[in-house]
Amino acid sequence: MQYVSTRAAASAAASSTQQFSDILLGGLAADGGLFLPTAYPQVTGDELNAWRELSYADLAFQILKKFATDIPEADLRALTAKTYTKEVYKNTRAGEKASQITPLRVLEERADGSKLVLQALSNGPTLAFKDMAMQLLGNLFEYALAKQDEQLNIFGATSGDTGSAAEYAMRGKQGVRVFMLSPHKKMSAFQTAQMFSLQDPNIYNIALEGVFDDAQDMVKAVSNDLEFKRRYKIGTVNSINWARVVAQVVYYFRGYLSATTSNEQKVSFTVPSGNFGNICAGHIARMMGLPIDKLVAATNENDVLDEFFRTGVYRVRKSAETYHTSSPSMDISKASNFERFIYDLVGRDGDRTRALFQKVESHGGFDLSGKPGSDGDEFKLVAKYGFKSGKSTHADRLDTIRDVADDYGIVIDTHTADGIKVAREYLEPGVTMIVLETALAAKFNETILEALGQDAERPAGFENIEDLPQKFVVMPVDVQKLKDYIAANTGL
Ligand SMILES: *Cc1c(COP(=O)(O)O)cnc(C)c1O
Repeated sequence: MQYVSTRAAASAAASSTQQFSDILLGGLAADGGLFLPTAYPQVTGDELNAWRELSYADLAFQILKKFATDIPEADLRALTAKTYTKEVYKNTRAGEKASQITPLRVLEERADGSKLVLQALSNGPTLAFKDMAMQLLGNLFEYALAKQDEQLNIFGATSGDTGSAAEYAMRGKQGVRVFMLSPHKKMSAFQTAQMFSLQDPNIYNIALEGVFDDAQDMVKAVSNDLEFKRRYKIGTVNSINWARVVAQVVYYFRGYLSATTSNEQKVSFTVPSGNFGNICAGHIARMMGLPIDKLVAATNENDVLDEFFRTGVYRVRKSAETYHTSSPSMDISKASNFERFIYDLVGRDGDRTRALFQKVESHGGFDLSGKPGSDGDEFKLVAKYGFKSGKSTHADRLDTIRDVADDYGIVIDTHTADGIKVAREYLEPGVTMIVLETALAAKFNETILEALGQDAERPAGFENIEDLPQKFVVMPVDVQKLKDYIAANTGL
């Protein structure tokens, strides 16, 4: 399996491909594009039938081996077996089996044959779906670095979910250190405790005396210093990493296969969306031949994606137009994985894709509506890819959290509430709608308290997390100080 950049010029595309292991440790392609396979591997009906009874780890192996053809199969099987265990994904609720890794729960079944189903993706160590991919990434990184006798220093900024998922995936891993910036005293007590209570010597928490935007600017400043990056072997684990996307493809297959008994049955997915990483994996599963009917992107007030799927206009937001909401992991100004879908939408034309995303840089967006003066008319093809969308507000979240607690007796988190709200708008006779649960309610307790007047339940082991000793350094917004700190702690 070869990979190509979404911005590769037609003349260079054939000669510039790379293998899975080449792109595993990197982020963007050298030309600024994102990596995709030169063609999506296809899955047959017979394969799907054979996969229905597989364990999650075995299913992950079957899917990953189609993408990571340069990793020996025995190694890949060992990596997936080590990652997808009931000990890692143990934070189940009553009625869920940990061994299923992403258990389904039928919320409602109507007389017309429509069903509303929740797929739990948040039973991993940090109680958010990012563990699904990040745990595999930790094991893949350790494996790849050991092979090359290399080390990697992961550096990033987080406002909550990504940083903790990365730290829990990389803790104790040979050859990897994590330097994670977070805004000092700006994360919830729970999120702070989750990250800062890690005592592993390869985890470095840096609390920045500033806001999240300052932290992101610091990451950019360090990333732009190529000499520093090379010398100190700095890498990232952000959501554009291809291995993260491909690991997420697996749970769409698991959800479909668990919800059906034959491949004639129709299933749609609703996905709480921010950076388009999660739903991009759904798009890839569908392109591989998984019989997904609709892929519904659910956004909060930061509705960049909903706007595109309604109008064909992609318009990134300025900082002042990016809202801080009660589903904060979806508070994005642009959707960093969206380029992967646009590349497919414009017929896998790297020159076109490059021009469109250069326009995002220069003019803040592009327009594929086909109207006079627009940049193209491919919006008319969106339906062919199954995409739909919707959005919700803080008031909707409160209502949905209450409704779901009253009607089905479970407490969902704010992001999942955005998903359920939008999913209900797309229920169809005879079709199962699976909503991806992207976090557990305990992570966003403030809003649960507001909606229900009581605290969200915490999984076992998290009861007193705020009381554990914390390990972190506080730092001013000063790029040189940060570089000195990293340099002093890399051992290089
Ligand atoms: C990251 C995250 C999302 C958004 O996922 P994308 O891949 O960025 O679309 C939604 N919900 C939760 C809880 C998250 O942590």
